[in-house]
Amino acid sequence: KSDHSGLGLASGGADDEDNGRRRLTTLEELRTGLDQGELVLHYQPQLDLATGLVSGVEALVRWNHPTRGLVYPDGFLSLAEHAGLMGRITTQVLDLAVEQCRAWRAAGLDLTVAVNLSTSNLHDPGLPEHVAALLARHGVPPCALHLEVTEEVLMRDAARATETLARLRALGIRLAVDDYGTGYSSLAYLHALPVDDLKLDRAFVAHCDTDPRSAAIVKSTVELAHNLNMRLIAEGVENEVVLDRLRGWDCDLVQGYHLSRPQAPDRLTPWLLQRQA
Ligand code: C2E
Ligand code: CA
Ligand code: CA
Ligand code: CA
Repeated sequence: KSDHSGLGLASGGADDEDNGRRRLTTLEELRTGLDQGELVLHYQPQLDLATGLVSGVEALVRWNHPTRGLVYPDGFLSLAEHAGLMGRITTQVLDLAVEQCRAWRAAGLDLTVAVNLSTSNLHDPGLPEHVAALLARHGVPPCALHLEVTEEVLMRDAARATETLARLRALGIRLAVDDYGTGYSSLAYLHALPVDDLKLDRAFVAHCDTDPRSAAIVKSTVELAHNLNMRLIAEGVENEVVLDRLRGWDCDLVQGYHLSRPQAPDRLTPWLLQRQA
């Protein structure tokens, strides 16, 4: 029973009724927050190991709550998913991310922006058209947008998910399997899915400098990805030794606190401009 959200969303025990009330309050506040535009994005850079350049960023949503401050995804996303709000959230996240991508490109920063999708998004047949229209409106090329889906999302309704993904990919958008290795991994779906990148979960990456089994998993997954003509992205890189190992194993992209924490664009942009110079 853990609750890091500060919102009292933990479940179970004698406080169930209180928790139920708090969840309802949070939900009401979230609906208002969505109307008021309280969602913001922080962006975490991704380093291309072949070129040594930051080639893209991942957009990570935060809720700028009027009294509680910045609320992280684990404090509201599962509640939102249960309440059927993920469609609205993803619409807002995509708007913000594509607009930011346009602004960076106008400033000479040629970055890709990765956005996370949830289960309900892949079950929305209108998503590909919506994304295509959004990109066209901002003049952002589809290849600048990456979409990430977890194994769990993919397995929920593989046929429907595969169709939506194929339509997104036909637009020229790059797709990644997120948290790779933590879900119900199946080689059958890897074989069948229209995806470009595997994003190996940080559970395997974080200790690959000291744990031989993690090291073996990372090395083999890089090979698997390359043999399937996919790129491997390692997340959760927290120190230089891990980074060196990944470079030696021919990993394609890395992301993690060692390079940068996710940051608001006004703080990240100067960092990006300085690195690029
Ligand atoms: P994720 O997609 O796996 O994102 C990576 C998470 O790991 C982020 O947490 C990031 O801040 C954190 N992280 C990055 N580097 C490191 C590192 O070196 N070490 C450690 N320990 N952690 C690192 P965050 O921002 O709290 O997001 C949590 C999850 O919430 C995300 O996991 C993603 O599944 C979900 N999420 C975030 N934004 C969105 C969104 O816009 N839409 C949807 N559907 N889901 C989102
Ligand atoms: Ca992700
Ligand atoms: Ca991940
Ligand atoms: Ca994750």
